[in-house]
Amino acid sequence: MAKYIFVTGGVVSSLGKGIASASIGKLLESRGLNVALVKCDPYINVDPGTMNPFQHGEVYVTEDGAETDLDLGHYERFTNAKLTKDNNITTGKIYHSVISRERKGGYLGKTVQIIPHITDEIMISIKKVAYGKKVDVVIVEIGGTVGDIESLPFLEAIRQLKLELGKEYAINIHVTLVPYIKTAGEVKTKLTQHSVGRLREIGIIPDIILCRSESHLNNQVKDKIALFCSVDKEAVISAVDVENIYEVPVSLKKEGLDRLIVKLLNLKCAESSLSDWEEKVLKRLDNNEKKVSIAVVGKYITLQDAYKSIYEALAHGAIANNVDLDIKRIDSEDIENQGVDNLLKGVNGILIPGGFGKRGIEGKIDAVKYARENQIPFLGICLGMQVTVIEFARNVCNLKKANSTEFDANTKFSIVSLLEEQKKINALGATMRLGAYECKIKKPSLASSIYKKQKIYERHRHRYEFNNAFKQLLEKKGLVFSGINPGSGLVEIIELAKHPFFIACQFHPEFKSKPDRAHPIFAAFIKAAVE
Ligand code: GLN
Repeated sequence: MAKYIFVTGGVVSSLGKGIASASIGKLLESRGLNVALVKCDPYINVDPGTMNPFQHGEVYVTEDGAETDLDLGHYERFTNAKLTKDNNITTGKIYHSVISRERKGGYLGKTVQIIPHITDEIMISIKKVAYGKKVDVVIVEIGGTVGDIESLPFLEAIRQLKLELGKEYAINIHVTLVPYIKTAGEVKTKLTQHSVGRLREIGIIPDIILCRSESHLNNQVKDKIALFCSVDKEAVISAVDVENIYEVPVSLKKEGLDRLIVKLLNLKCAESSLSDWEEKVLKRLDNNEKKVSIAVVGKYITLQDAYKSIYEALAHGAIANNVDLDIKRIDSEDIENQGVDNLLKGVNGILIPGGFGKRGIEGKIDAVKYARENQIPFLGICLGMQVTVIEFARNVCNLKKANSTEFDANTKFSIVSLLEEQKKINALGATMRLGAYECKIKKPSLASSIYKKQKIYERHRHRYEFNNAFKQLLEKKGLVFSGINPGSGLVEIIELAKHPFFIACQFHPEFKSKPDRAHPIFAAFIKAAVE
């Protein structure tokens, strides 16, 4: 039977619960245990797919095509756990299934209530991720901050689940903030005391308190938190700020976190070892002789989280090449106003990520032209591929008004358009082309030299496609269609032969990149940028 770790957060958001959960997963895996990870999100949207990046950050896509919270990206980058639509539970999903069941008569005669019906559904959904699988530990992260109205049903569900599972089968880890107050010259524990108090009010007593702080907590502070929060002193763990997120597992191991978890859950396993991670990831971070600068041209560049997986995958590519990475975040609207040369001059590579809507499109097209004409290594992803074919059609094939019907519904040259089946769809939730699809790679090509195989699977999240009616014309002018979906004939990868490195794909390779196993496209892109 699987054992459970429930991770909650207190005081403020953005304390790094997701990274902490992923790091716990990493540490337990390094002990030979199989882990599963679940994120519970208290919002009423069924999934984040319909949310603006300014609201939510990146939408992470799983192999089976679920649009999920970006914390699942951390889980996949830190661990080997396979994530599916079941690994992200939202209030929307829970209510959706309870209400559907009620309409079918599934609760006939009963008043359907938050307790027990919603909480039962949450418990079933949490337990589902371990059903029929070889899972030793399930790590369940509850989104939001303790004290929020929205997360109450989730907290009640994990309270009941811990009771049901019993001792040694479930523990609670509470992540809080212990701030340093400059004027007083000391750290303050009161926020943590209050936050644990809020948890206790609803019947949850933490077994471990993970204290985010600028520096290590001294014995006195730990004693105080232990006393006021009724936990053992060894269960007060410092989670200190680190330079790079990939250092977190090492830092938590030093604090004895995984040893304590193993003791509390009475897990039979080996000692943890992160030597491989240290060798393959941490040693290669920063302080390299060479530095590479990559421009990411998008429209959500002021946000930390909107292109999370892109930034991480670029970092993985830099790790693979032993170089330091300097990401220049360029707003494509600034290109429109200030000129492409002013903003992109001197960069070693240009990446255009995915996106939706018309704003900033012309700036992206200018950036493609700049990379193509100046022989600058270029990678276009999803919308990045779509603007690449538009640029090529306009400036090489002389189809001056070429566009995507997403930006100009009546364009004469609809280089990018909707498939017939997409035209019939009115609802916006979970109706895009989502998840892993096969792509057949032509040989010889840049793509085949990158992947070193002919059959690949990559994840998608888009509605529009390259319009195959224009394929012959673009091909004649030198665009290479090097990756095609065998069933539908849809274009997956394009490239230019007469360029040091120019490739764009309709799928999102960034979702499958890991720090110790950089995605081959990102590794090759950074290599080309270095050269
Ligand atoms: N907006 C484009 C489409 O829907 C691209 C989507 C994306 O980049 N993820 O096809």
